[in-house]
Amino acid sequence: MTDTSTGTTTGTGTIQESAWKGRFGAAMMGSLSTPQIMLERGAGCHVWDVDGNRYLDFLAGIAVNTLGHAHPALVAAVSAQIGTLAHVSNYFATPSQLGLAEKLLEVSGAGETGRVYFGNSGAEAIEAAVKLARLNRGDGSRTRIIALTNSFHGRTMGSLSLTGKPALREAFEPLLGGVEHIDTTIEALEATIDGTVAAIFIEPIKGEAGVIDLPEGYLKRARELTTQHGALLILDEIQTGIGRTGSWFAFQQHDVVPDAIAVAKGLAGGVPIGALVTFGATSDLFQPGQHGSTFGGNPLATAAGVAVLHQIEADDLVGNAKRRGEELRAAIVDIRSPLVKELRGSGLLLGVGLTAPVAQAVVATALELGLIINAPNETSIRIAPPLIIGDSEIAEFRDLFTRALEAHSQKAQP
Ligand SMILES: *Cc1c(COP(=O)(O)O)cnc(C)c1O
Repeated sequence: MTDTSTGTTTGTGTIQESAWKGRFGAAMMGSLSTPQIMLERGAGCHVWDVDGNRYLDFLAGIAVNTLGHAHPALVAAVSAQIGTLAHVSNYFATPSQLGLAEKLLEVSGAGETGRVYFGNSGAEAIEAAVKLARLNRGDGSRTRIIALTNSFHGRTMGSLSLTGKPALREAFEPLLGGVEHIDTTIEALEATIDGTVAAIFIEPIKGEAGVIDLPEGYLKRARELTTQHGALLILDEIQTGIGRTGSWFAFQQHDVVPDAIAVAKGLAGGVPIGALVTFGATSDLFQPGQHGSTFGGNPLATAAGVAVLHQIEADDLVGNAKRRGEELRAAIVDIRSPLVKELRGSGLLLGVGLTAPVAQAVVATALELGLIINAPNETSIRIAPPLIIGDSEIAEFRDLFTRALEAHSQKAQP
């Protein structure tokens, strides 16, 4: 039996479920583990599985579904675009491509001296940034690329080379040469950045690491040192961008101007897209013919992006992310669970640090109760709802999350 009004599931697999799990294992590449549920449709902040169970989606496709599911503005924009012009190649310009590039330059503050490159994913935005770093050679001696330990920048060979998680990298070595990982401390920055560094890649908040904030003053110091030595400051805003942290981009809360930002996830609300935005003189590094992608910046994806950015502005979803993020924090503190050690992140990218390694178990219980959240590691829960959440979603989250925590609170450590 299933109660679709509350999202309660029975937890017993139906015949239908075992059938699709078998098909998944038989058809999908072994690089993915078999999911727990199969989703069929979504509306607003909720999704429904194939058995009709309803879930509150506080992960949003990992910070992708900016406007929630099936938002009328996004549906209308994509439907109109695919009925008009879906794809033409980069031999031709299109209105939506230009419209999205101009809007990104505006909201990022890159302005008239900025430029935009479009790809199809976060990893592709990072790949473009890696090539950008290679172009910043100076007199030829700037060959090193610096990234941070425990960082995540993607899984293609270039972006994986930057990713600071040995477990993800080791099977695929040798990776890109000239990349070094340093600890996320101002001391390590000062010891590393010199005239041989082409670029440093930094996530303003490390999402995959468990929503980990940078040390106080870190980005400002990184900006000072990179400017001093001619290295590029490249920020990976793939997860933190597009309003999620309570500003258009997370760097805007740190009083710095980067040389480039990588953008993806939330940019087109669920339609695959990636973008590299450059600032100032960095915009002159790429020359015609040096980079490109068949699908990059195609009319369909960029029309979706235009719709998302316009809707964010129309509904002040950047402000909503800030306000609702604070309400969500207050709600979690108010639960007073002995499992909750600390809250991290900003706006609607929240990390809950736990006192015991039960994050996977809490997430599994939440799913059974009808709440989608995720555990980047055993002591961290990541919460990244659509930016459209309001009072009722916060109340529903609070109830479900309280019950999920309670189910494991006997494991709490003082
Ligand atoms: C998701 C993510 C990526 C990779 O994006 P894909 O679209 O999965 O290739 C890179 N960096 C960060 C910070 C991310 O969150």
